Amino acid sequence: MRPRGHADLADLAEAGVDHVIDASLATQWRLCQAVLDLLGLPRVAVPAPGTTDTTWVDTTRLIRYRWPDDTDCPHGAAAEPVLPISGGCLDCLREGLQWVHLRVCLTCGTVGCCDSSPGRHSRAHHEHTDHPLVTSGEPGETWAYCFLDGTTVAAPAPAT
Ligand SMILES: [Zn+2]
Ligand SMILES: [Zn+2]
Ligand SMILES: [Zn+2]
Repeated sequence: MRPRGHADLADLAEAGVDHVIDASLATQWRLCQAVLDLLGLPRVAVPAPGTTDTTWVDTTRLIRYRWPDDTDCPHGAAAEPVLPISGGCLDCLREGLQWVHLRVCLTCGTVGCCDSSPGRHSRAHHEHTDHPLVTSGEPGETWAYCFLDGTTVAAPAPAT
């Protein structure tokens, strides 16, 4: 789906859309990559020790995380349909750090690095915004985490 103008992600998620090309987000991320290239900075994060993973988030994947009811975490209402706002951790790119794994904020789509990364920017985003929930941005991983109570959810609840 490539909406013109502002997309209502909740409506698109409701309609079963999986991928959204958001023109302004796509342009912003490409611009960021182009500037990194001009500065001669690496685009790709160093893989975690012992792995061959490179960690980039698909910025077209519409994330609709249905928080399960059977957890002790009462913050599931914070999970909105979101698009990841960048392919990597923008704070790491700004500060010249490299990330290990990426997390996506379920309230606003901000992409941040995990607690194993030097910047711990996903947690920093939570502390700045009070957005409580993140899901893994790593390919194939479906788990999510609440910073407020330390709850980990293995997978979203099935669609109803
Ligand atoms: Zn919680
Ligand atoms: Zn970071
Ligand atoms: Zn957020």
